[in-house]
Amino acid sequence: MSQFHSEQVIRTLYQITADYQQGFDQQVKQLLQLGCERFDLEIGILSRITINDYIVEHCICPDGMELEAKTRFKLKDNYCTLTLAEGGPLGYEHVGKSEISVHPAYREFALESYIGIPIYVEQKIYGTLNFSSPYPRSRKFQETDIEALQLMGVWIGAELSRRQREKELWLAEERFRIAIDASPSPMVMVNSEGLIILTNQATEKMFGYSSGEMLNQSVEILVPDNVRKLHPRFRESFVRRPKPRAMGAGRDLMGKRKDGRCFPVSIGLNPIETPEGPVILVAIVDLTERKRFEEQIVSQSLQLKKANEELYLQATTDSLTGLANRRSLFTHLKSMLQLVNRSSRSLSLLLIDLDLFKKYNDEFGHPAGDKALKEVAASLLYEARGSDLVARYGGEEFAIILPETDKKGAMTIGARILESVKSIGNLERQITVSIGAATLEFEAERELDPMAVSLNLIEVADQGLYQSKAQGRNRITHYEDFIRESRKHLFMS
Ligand code: GH3
Ligand code: MG
Ligand code: MG
Repeated sequence: MSQFHSEQVIRTLYQITADYQQGFDQQVKQLLQLGCERFDLEIGILSRITINDYIVEHCICPDGMELEAKTRFKLKDNYCTLTLAEGGPLGYEHVGKSEISVHPAYREFALESYIGIPIYVEQKIYGTLNFSSPYPRSRKFQETDIEALQLMGVWIGAELSRRQREKELWLAEERFRIAIDASPSPMVMVNSEGLIILTNQATEKMFGYSSGEMLNQSVEILVPDNVRKLHPRFRESFVRRPKPRAMGAGRDLMGKRKDGRCFPVSIGLNPIETPEGPVILVAIVDLTERKRFEEQIVSQSLQLKKANEELYLQATTDSLTGLANRRSLFTHLKSMLQLVNRSSRSLSLLLIDLDLFKKYNDEFGHPAGDKALKEVAASLLYEARGSDLVARYGGEEFAIILPETDKKGAMTIGARILESVKSIGNLERQITVSIGAATLEFEAERELDPMAVSLNLIEVADQGLYQSKAQGRNRITHYEDFIRESRKHLFMS
């Protein structure tokens, strides 16, 4: 074989493999053609090999021979088992006269000459490139033949590897695309220029744009007008320091639909490296429902607060007169006593009981009695100061706490009450009350126990009241006036 001829082969090989335009299948066909001419053989095959089978992928053969792509043979009935075992090029010029004449392939196909090479794809056996003929070859295969075969084999292997990687990449991309599209969560992929390069059905539904309307548009179309200008800055700062995080850090984020309506959203940002550079995968959650729910909770808690206040009012108010009830009287008395403790001032208490009220009821009926109780309550409120607490202590008994009031003040207010009740006009007949008064004077060196003092104060006022009744009713008695000793019970020892 001349030097020229071998250079010719290399040149032709180069021309075929460089011409990507015609496509891989056509290129392989031309290589098979070139091999057949070069090796003086009639059959050229690119095969793929599985565990047991030999599958023809591409072939050329003489007219009349039944061989085409996808034809399957048993691997063991093929010379390629020898090529695979060899792990490199292998050639026989005259099989019938060689040591492999007993090979099943010889008996099956009677191919006298053969040259083949394994094809590797990604370091794994893919198949073989082989040429053969039913006739023996007159010349021996030469070094340049082997070299040409190797060049073909290497190119085919590399090209198949590249195609396989491309296919895998395409498949991975396609799987990703399908998964994103089918995801129930709205997602948008944005490139480093802020253009939407991928979106999904959930996003279409959320924003009212079709995919076509969003693709290659700036992601700012999904942002309300008032932040649209600032948005590219946020985007750029994310690109400078990309890490998965929630957008907006505590700010209330809004999305804008195609129809202009804005709605609350939360947004997750995920930087992803792709062959086309870094992109951001943006996940969007519609918070409309959650906000509505939050508002509902707020309004419910307001209602609850109102109901609570009403309950409190009911629990602390007397329903007939609207005055504070007995329980409320004690609560106030205790807290006022704490104030007295701190402010070193005096506090007085009046207990007021309607005179001979049983008789009034008996004479004019219970409803008339109720009306009288209300009238008395009103006149007590009228006489009391803003800081005093007027309470209904029991059936026809009232109490007034008089903060910052000494004995003299208590007696003055008591006297006014006696007059005021007597002069209530619209009753069945005139009503009078008896009053018992008690005063607590602060003593600096002693700490008061509010509960004990409350009870004591009421007890001594009650004694005053008893005295008023005993002395003929319609009068006021201060406990000091008859039991000077009781004062010492007011303090803890
Ligand atoms: P005294 O001067 O000694 O206090 O005589 P009194 O009749 O007022 O005393 P007593 O305790 O015997 O009677 C109190 C009466 O007050 C009994 C009851 O008929 C009346 N009373 C108590 N609570 C109510 C009420 O809510 N409505 C009405 N209409 N009457 C009430
Ligand atoms: Mg009574
Ligand atoms: Mg009474």
